[in-house]
Amino acid sequence: MIGVDVLIIGAGQAAASCAARLRAEGFDGSIAVLGAEEAPPYQRPALSKAYLTGAIGRERLFLRPEAFYPDNGIDLRTGCRVTGIDPAARRVILADGGSLTWSRALVLATGSVPRRLPAAIGGDLAGVHVLRDLVDADGLSPALEAGRRVLVVGGGYVGLEAAAVCAKRGLAVTLIEATPRILQRVAAPETADYFRALHHGQGVDLREGVGLARLVGDAGRVVGAELTDGTTLPVDLVIAGIGITPDTALAEAAGVALDNGIAVDAECRTSIPGIWAAGDCASCLFEGQRIRLESVGNAVDMGEAVARNILGAGLAYGPKPWFWSDQFDVKLQIAGLNIGYDALHVRAGDRGARSHWYYRKGRLIAVDAMNDPRGYMTGKRLIESGVSPDAALLADPTTDLRALMRA
Ligand SMILES: Cc1cc2nc3c(=O)[nH]c(=O)nc-3n(C[C@H](O)[C@H](O)[C@H](O)COP(=O)(O)OP(=O)(O)OC[C@H]3O[C@@H](n4cnc5c(N)ncnc54)[C@H](O)[C@@H]3O)c2cc1C
Repeated sequence: MIGVDVLIIGAGQAAASCAARLRAEGFDGSIAVLGAEEAPPYQRPALSKAYLTGAIGRERLFLRPEAFYPDNGIDLRTGCRVTGIDPAARRVILADGGSLTWSRALVLATGSVPRRLPAAIGGDLAGVHVLRDLVDADGLSPALEAGRRVLVVGGGYVGLEAAAVCAKRGLAVTLIEATPRILQRVAAPETADYFRALHHGQGVDLREGVGLARLVGDAGRVVGAELTDGTTLPVDLVIAGIGITPDTALAEAAGVALDNGIAVDAECRTSIPGIWAAGDCASCLFEGQRIRLESVGNAVDMGEAVARNILGAGLAYGPKPWFWSDQFDVKLQIAGLNIGYDALHVRAGDRGARSHWYYRKGRLIAVDAMNDPRGYMTGKRLIESGVSPDAALLADPTTDLRALMRA
């Protein structure tokens, strides 16, 4: 049986950041990174954006050149699924029957799994897709032929981005969202209004407050959809963008405490000594609340925080949330978290730039910036430095944003 000092399960953003940070900090022990997917660590965001439109190729997705891992003494094993963890023996069991031990730390960076439409309503028919990994994107892309009819289920960011790509590629797109509006969970009505108008303007048939009753199949392939309002639609393919769940199965079976994901303390330790967690699969503390962030920024920062803390830094991890989304010709950039906001101020900038500023009890907590990089950068700096500009000044388009830092 082979043993390593630090063993990382998962080979995504958080895992790659953790391994690279360990080396950058001068750690010279052995590191193994075990990933179930065949591909080396890559960036997922492009899967519903530039990769799916065809604007960028596969090689642009990879986080590091192939040689980075061997050059840095990182034993990256792809196509290697871990099926069990024995914390007492400090050992993981692999799908191929092998096993590996760790001596210093085990890092859980297993990401999340996409929710799927239930088989009972036709979710297992051919032509029904999810979009989580490269295999999903490569399976979906050839089906996006101009003129075909696609139903996108779910009006969150992944659903909206997929709808935008499909429309760009010439498909007839219907998007349904079961809750009263798109982006219900993540953004203000004003931001939802902006993106609804954008999609309508590009010909997307966007329907809110309408769920999927069932998919209709013919010879095992999806051909139609019945919606909860009684409407029926002919469809050639379906993309389900109905959210994700943190991948906690291994942790749970090993007895690691869960709370909306793998619960970690301020230093990203799980409930079992020597086992850490980072990224989508982990829930951490933010302003006294336990939250889980599904973003690249969090995966990278948390992976690096785990590396530093394994080496004894003893740093409290403080998420600095940021996110982005590309839809048609709009780049949305988000800084902060809008949880519990009680006021929203809209700022219209030059050349279609627009930003939505969220306040809670007079404190600036988040900003959504549409084609407005300056608004985003200013908002991010203000939030990080705890400065909350006067709302009237902010909403005044003649106010120079740079002056707000000094206001
Ligand atoms: C289509 C799409 C678009 C997105 N767009 C954005 C965006 O615009 N901006 C943004 O900030 N974020 C975006 N995200 C989210 C972002 O990609 C994730 O938050 C980020 O990848 C999380 O990193 P992670 O390392 O925690 O998990 P992942 O990157 O998901 O990596 C986890 C890895 O662990 C592997 N694994 C799981 N279990 C095992 C096991 N038992 N054995 C071995 N390996 C295992 C998985 O196969 C996976 O490869 C998007 C995600 C998707 C899917």
